[in-house]
Amino acid sequence: MADCIFCKIVKGEIPCYKIYEDPHCIAFLDINQVSEGHTLVVSKDHYENFFDVKPDVLQKVVLSVQNVALGLRKALNLSGMNISTNNGTPGQEVPHVHFHLIPRFAGDNLVPWPSELMTADELKKMAERIRSRF
Ligand code: AMP
Repeated sequence: MADCIFCKIVKGEIPCYKIYEDPHCIAFLDINQVSEGHTLVVSKDHYENFFDVKPDVLQKVVLSVQNVALGLRKALNLSGMNISTNNGTPGQEVPHVHFHLIPRFAGDNLVPWPSELMTADELKKMAERIRSRF
């Protein structure tokens, strides 16, 4: 897509700190590092987000994510990593499907999301509500 920043990076029209490339994805350092080595794995084809990716493409992209994660783990000698993807609003800043690979380090105190306990009844109702959509 002409005005998509990640499409421009894929095409080499704007620079990035690239660490990996294969036929389906490129991976580069996020300009805003949540932790040292924070990497984005970006599909070469433009899809707005995870929901939209064609299944056969998604299989390849997910394998690329694993490949990059393994390389990152080895390069930085990591024992932990968060892998996440933001989809839609709120949360997604760049509307081109990508995965965040966030290295974890002992004592980093990163708490990705706040959480709260639900009652057993609330959990039961929520599970029923979601299950009914399949
Ligand atoms: P989100 O869409 O919320 O998953 O976030 C998009 C991510 O892309 C943010 O973490 C940004 O720091 C990162 N980002 C945006 N532009 C660039 C760029 N030109 N190079 C590297 N990372 C970028």
